[in-house]
Amino acid sequence: MQEGQSQDRGKGVWWSQMRCWSVAAISITLLSICFIVSCVVTYNFTYGKNDQKLSQLHTYHSSLTCSSEGTRVTVWGCCPSTWKPFDSSCYFISTKKENWAKHEQNCVGMGGHLVVINTEAEQNFIIHHLNESFPYFLGLTDPQGKNKWQWIDQTPYKENVRFWHDREPNLSAEQCVSIVFWAPGKWGWNDVLCHLKMNSICEMKKIYI
Ligand code: CA
Repeated sequence: MQEGQSQDRGKGVWWSQMRCWSVAAISITLLSICFIVSCVVTYNFTYGKNDQKLSQLHTYHSSLTCSSEGTRVTVWGCCPSTWKPFDSSCYFISTKKENWAKHEQNCVGMGGHLVVINTEAEQNFIIHHLNESFPYFLGLTDPQGKNKWQWIDQTPYKENVRFWHDREPNLSAEQCVSIVFWAPGKWGWNDVLCHLKMNSICEMKKIYI
């Protein structure tokens, strides 16, 4: 009789242990499933977007050059291999002699726009890559000819980021802008007729992966 009772007690303990282990195993399985699902969702959200951007970029550019950026987390900033990287943008110097509208169309066709100069550092970087013998179109226009200058990407035309040559802009008919080197040794902006044919500079945002 006593032996039977102790056997029953033993079975009871065994069952309650089994229940605990089962609950633990089911919980761990559910947590693992949640973790895997969240990883997959995050991966698709983060990398799916970049893959999309990269494949779009590959429709215009066959090869990209990426460099590691960021101090705490390593990210890769990529530019088309024929473009020059600076800060968060890539720049392409076009030496085709075209008018302003054609250059803008070409830049857009490559996934960018005519260059927008946001800082003196950016202008200093750009002029480093230009030929002093030629002017280059910028993404700055005065569509009404009323001295109301507008950047192509709607960046505000700031007082402290203007690099006009002396006595420029000078003519209301000149509704586009070039950056040009004028003696005695200075790069600066000049308003010009939009139908003139000259070089240009395209800019696009880096792709981060
Ligand atoms: Ca002028």
